[in-house]
Amino acid sequence: MRTIDLSPHGITVADVRRNLPPAELYAEALRREPDAALADSGALIAYSGAKTGRSPRDKRVVRHPASEHDVWWGPVNVPITDEVFQINLERAKDYLNTRPFLYCVDAFAGWDPQHRLKVRVICSRPYHALFMHTMLIRPTREELATFGEPDAVIYNAGRFPANRRTAGMTSKTSIDLSLETKELVILGTEYAGEMKKGVFTLLNYFAPKRGILSMHCSATADRDSGASSLLFGLSGTGKTTLSADPKRLLVGDDEHCWTDSGIFNIEGGCYAKAIDLTPETEPDIFQALRFGAVLENVVYDEDSHHVDFHDTRITQNTRGAYPVEFIRNAKIPCVAGHPTDVIFLTCDAFGVLPPVSRLTPEQAMYHFISGYTAKVAGTEMGVTEPQATFSPCFGGPFLVWHPMKYAGLLADKIRRHAARVWLVNTGWSGGAYGIGTRMKLPLTRAIVDAIHSGALRDAAVARDPVFGLDVVTACPGVPAQVLVPREAWSDAAAYEATARKLAGLFAANFAQYASQVTADVAAAGPRA
Ligand code: ATP
Ligand code: MN
Repeated sequence: MRTIDLSPHGITVADVRRNLPPAELYAEALRREPDAALADSGALIAYSGAKTGRSPRDKRVVRHPASEHDVWWGPVNVPITDEVFQINLERAKDYLNTRPFLYCVDAFAGWDPQHRLKVRVICSRPYHALFMHTMLIRPTREELATFGEPDAVIYNAGRFPANRRTAGMTSKTSIDLSLETKELVILGTEYAGEMKKGVFTLLNYFAPKRGILSMHCSATADRDSGASSLLFGLSGTGKTTLSADPKRLLVGDDEHCWTDSGIFNIEGGCYAKAIDLTPETEPDIFQALRFGAVLENVVYDEDSHHVDFHDTRITQNTRGAYPVEFIRNAKIPCVAGHPTDVIFLTCDAFGVLPPVSRLTPEQAMYHFISGYTAKVAGTEMGVTEPQATFSPCFGGPFLVWHPMKYAGLLADKIRRHAARVWLVNTGWSGGAYGIGTRMKLPLTRAIVDAIHSGALRDAAVARDPVFGLDVVTACPGVPAQVLVPREAWSDAAAYEATARKLAGLFAANFAQYASQVTADVAAAGPRA
């Protein structure tokens, strides 16, 4: 069981170390990876090299007659021929075959046994093996013994570049997906998150085919009823942070599916942002970064091996991966009932969206298709103007079908299960980035608590004239003046101008979908 013959995959290396436990992968990493280290907390510190984030522009999907009419071709899904895919696949295998030994991780994606995918990861770095051991669902001893043929295979040759003379390559990085063979090839990036999001992309193709909605969201469950609640949002909006909630059970922090019988987590681990992490504000995540976890691209003190989570010298995108059961109140198996509440998180750096509003079904569709958040501009350039980002379904880079496919499934499931939908701004308050401040985490937690307790179901609301939203004006634990941005800003004219500006950005972005939705949905957005 500890080794496996990979020759059916064209891998000729004899020494293949299969499903090593973390203790051994730690030892291998410390022995073989020159910069790996043990943190004082017991976590393994590893470095992903030049790439410290995903490379969305270098993703390619094989254009094949069987799936070409399903795929949303464009900047998210850039086509390559099967010929090019085979060239990159062979290149990856050739590289892996030069290694004296390899790691293989056989594990599952999807906690619902009816829908789970058997995934095989073949890689040369212990760090990558440990990462996927953590992020996939770990098989029991028996499940591993009877694993059989995998459904999907990841060939991670990230240390070796793509050949820029290969047709369709625009850099030395290439992440290539074949939907037909369920193979993922990684060249020219050692960022481990590519593997995790590659698996998610596969699910984003196959789940909707069966009427299952795959979602870029975190999920928690009610301790008593087992009903769930979803937190959608783009990177940095608070999915992971807010799902670590001692009052609820954790189902998962990033990727879920919604079936006819409820929801299930796709993953076996969580992948938290580590920037500015403190034990005071995020105690559950902080304590999970211990033996068994992987800490990526963090800076630590050479003498004490104490990690400085505020140090962004390597990247702002420092991360920690840990098994889901490291969160004390995790719900194992990670499945739960139908959602009672669906929360869209946005980090509005313009500071004009209300902290919490209640959405009509039409507004829910409008905001799901829009997928708005904002990024704060790089401080080193001295730019303070926030950048609006619109990413459909709050997960544009991982979609395979057109966004309307997912939107239609969501609308249907929300209607059928009578889920309430909320828009929560975890971004700026009292003014835009540079003037206001980010919503205090305890206040956002109070809002999420109030949604879950039912306190906001019949709460007082006021219609916002620009965004058309039913803004909640009274919420336990949140000062009333924070709840209405118009009143939280000291400069009323500046508020009005900024709100109109954001409304205009919403409208300009939505124009591309307007012909594909009902008039009610198209009219449910902000008035520019
Ligand atoms: P990704 O998709 O990249 O994993 P995510 O949605 O899971 O992103 P988090 O990892 O939860 O995002 O990151 C949210 C970050 O914002 C954390 O570092 C958190 O501490 C910080 N933060 C500050 N204020 C808030 C707030 N009011 N609500 C949520 N998060 C906040
Ligand atoms: Mn996250």
